[in-house]
Amino acid sequence: MSISRRTFLKVLGSGVTAAGLTGVICKRSGWAASIPPAKTKDAKITTSICPFCGVGCGLVAHTKGGRLVNVEGDPDHPINQGSLCSKGQAVKEVVTSPRRLKKVRYRAPGSDKWEEKDLDWAIKTLAQRVKATRDAGFLAKSPAGVTVNRTEALASIGGAALNNEECYLIAKLTRALGIVYLEHQARL
Ligand code: SF4
Repeated sequence: MSISRRTFLKVLGSGVTAAGLTGVICKRSGWAASIPPAKTKDAKITTSICPFCGVGCGLVAHTKGGRLVNVEGDPDHPINQGSLCSKGQAVKEVVTSPRRLKKVRYRAPGSDKWEEKDLDWAIKTLAQRVKATRDAGFLAKSPAGVTVNRTEALASIGGAALNNEECYLIAKLTRALGIVYLEHQARL
């Protein structure tokens, strides 16, 4: 029986591949038993969106007992298809970093010191200052005498971490205050 050069090379190639794979499989079986189970094993899976920029990449978060153990790109997300940039890969630190700020820090105008404040104080103070700024800069009519009922003293910028409903509520609130400068990080 005559064997063509092409057939000879194919047979040789499969033999080498099989031998190579056997080597890899044998090596792997030697240490595979000592590998600890993946940290995502039996974890609860929740999908989310990266909060860092307007691209809005999809994330998969793994939690165990309410504790975040892993975050990775969502392979089913149409934007990033499982990939994440370096910032997105570090997003778990937003929750788990020991340097994460958990209290409100406030620096008064003209001060060079940060003070710790509670959340109630921060929300109340923000509301008071927004109201005061809005009232001080409220314009019922334009210079041409047209009714406008707006303030040009405030602006609002949203972020990629906001979902549809949050954007809707922010737009409602800010327009009710008469704010006309509404932007979103994803448009910049
Ligand atoms: S992973 Fe990177 S590119 Fe994607 S949303 Fe986060 S910061 Fe933006």
